[in-house]
Amino acid sequence: MPIYEFRCQSCQHKFERLCQLGETGENLTCPKCQANKPKRVMSSFRSDSADSLRGSRGDSCTSCTSSNCAACR
Ligand SMILES: [Zn+2]
Repeated sequence: MPIYEFRCQSCQHKFERLCQLGETGENLTCPKCQANKPKRVMSSFRSDSADSLRGSRGDSCTSCTSSNCAACR
């Protein structure tokens, strides 16, 4: 089963859940504030990928904050 990432629309808390394929979050609740229907976010591909890559792999530029730094190399 895939792991989906959800963001609570009430408190913006982000959490991951192992879900059935196609799960939309309709029947989930926020583990923090118990609000219903967290919004599913596409994890690991776009918005957060730069941050997670930088944190886990450490092969980004050390001279600047860019994760794709052609200028400093
Ligand atoms: Zn919440």
